[in-house]
Amino acid sequence: MYDDKNIFAKILRKEIPCNKVYENEHSLFFKDINPQARIHVLGIPKIECIDFPDFILVANDKTVSSFFRSVDLVVDKLNIRDDGFRIISNSGINGGQEVPHFHIHILAGEKIGSLR
Ligand code: AMP
Repeated sequence: MYDDKNIFAKILRKEIPCNKVYENEHSLFFKDINPQARIHVLGIPKIECIDFPDFILVANDKTVSSFFRSVDLVVDKLNIRDDGFRIISNSGINGGQEVPHFHIHILAGEKIGSLR
């Protein structure tokens, strides 16, 4: 079950601040508080969903499409399309997810190391 006390839910309710990069009706993008690369931005949908499978389950097609199109828009906003970037979404225990609100990480600005 979705825990609405998680930190990203609080950011969406504006109970705690974030360093916003982009926002629209369906999603919010902000800088990670503990960046793992020169550019580290998180993207979250505005609906209550725990992880990637939950997002696909509960979101309608318009929301799913809008979210991923926003990722592409943020790639342009960050000016990282040409040099490249990495998109990650940790899901569940084996994925190492810490915050139980679906999010994607956009890492860029330098060569991102190997996954292992
Ligand atoms: P994950 O391990 O995929 O759940 O990633 C959670 C991410 O959220 C980590 O990279 C944290 O640094 C980041 N994070 C946690 N709290 C905040 C916050 N208040 N503002 C921005 N990023 C945060």
